[in-house]
Amino acid sequence: MKNLITATLVLIIAINFCNAQSNCNRTFGVACYGSGYDEYSKTDAPESLFSETRGLTIGVTYQGFTAPAQTAFDFSKQIWESILNGTVPIKVNAYFLPIGAGGSLAITFPNGRKNFAGAIVNDVWYPTSLANQLSGTELNTGESDFDIFLNSSVNWYFGTDGICPIGKYDFVSVALHEICHGLGLVGLSKVDSLGIGSLGTLTINDFSPAITSFPWPELDTFPGIFDHFLMTLDGTPIANGSFLNPSDTLADILTSNQIYWNGINGLQYNSNLEPRIYSPATFALGSSMVHLNEATYPTGNENELMTPFANSHSSNHHPGPIALAILKDIGWDVDPDFNSIQESISGYNFQIFPNPSADFISWNFKNNEEGEIVGDSAQSVPLFPR
Ligand SMILES: [Zn+2]
Repeated sequence: MKNLITATLVLIIAINFCNAQSNCNRTFGVACYGSGYDEYSKTDAPESLFSETRGLTIGVTYQGFTAPAQTAFDFSKQIWESILNGTVPIKVNAYFLPIGAGGSLAITFPNGRKNFAGAIVNDVWYPTSLANQLSGTELNTGESDFDIFLNSSVNWYFGTDGICPIGKYDFVSVALHEICHGLGLVGLSKVDSLGIGSLGTLTINDFSPAITSFPWPELDTFPGIFDHFLMTLDGTPIANGSFLNPSDTLADILTSNQIYWNGINGLQYNSNLEPRIYSPATFALGSSMVHLNEATYPTGNENELMTPFANSHSSNHHPGPIALAILKDIGWDVDPDFNSIQESISGYNFQIFPNPSADFISWNFKNNEEGEIVGDSAQSVPLFPR
């Protein structure tokens, strides 16, 4: 998605975060931007929205919302409620207020916990929305799980039909994107003004004048669970101690433009290719290392929602298979299961994906002995012409 940044833990009065596509800070925070140009695209909500009732609820405290804005946000929240399983209700503070000119559409700040009972990985920060599910208890009583700030100065389209007019940004799409950050598609990378790269050193001051509604923890140089799954082109994890934290070496890694996701579900959802993460040569706080790579998943791609920039005249009401795979990898119970179908046929491993699919399917055969794709058996066809 173009032009959105998401952030992590705050509440503000007069946000004037970042100028469009300039460096922006983020913590457990992410800012998202508009590209400033129209490019028509429309991706519908998953079928689960209309057919599934889940046990996980997302409670939203609205501040400053107009009725149309609240209706649109509710639609986005219902999409997520139809996808995720869980037992501990999610709590969101949503603010609709001017963030200033400069292309910023929204910013999200997730609350965090680490080393709790039920944590799959220790010494990493989890978003509390997920930590609560893993622990089976509400770890952050009295605090929101994430704060979302949506820029009321933007020329929004508040309809829920995805037919976004020229020159307007689709509010449902942006809210869907921001909620995904709050659920955990967010890391703790930073490159400071001296060119030092780090994980887990962000403070709320990095997002000034923004503030969160919950206390910002001392991150103690621990990475986020999202960072835990990131690796370099040669397969070296960025957060396992291979790179000194903080260091200029780590800054080089965070701006290498060669960062990939190494979770098993991400690989499976992406034809056994590691999904590519946005890590441009100039570090942009709030955009870098917290989105899918813009160029790899352009407008119209099924994974476009979680790229850093959103186009006007475009809508995307589906998180996309890679984003859902990432949420699965960090510990979410994602249902319906978007995993590819794998069946063994006549000595070959037949793979068809994604499942379900709204616009195309791909398949291939793999030799069971060699694990290699057989001949030119890798195929992909659109289900519907665009
Ligand atoms: Zn974003």
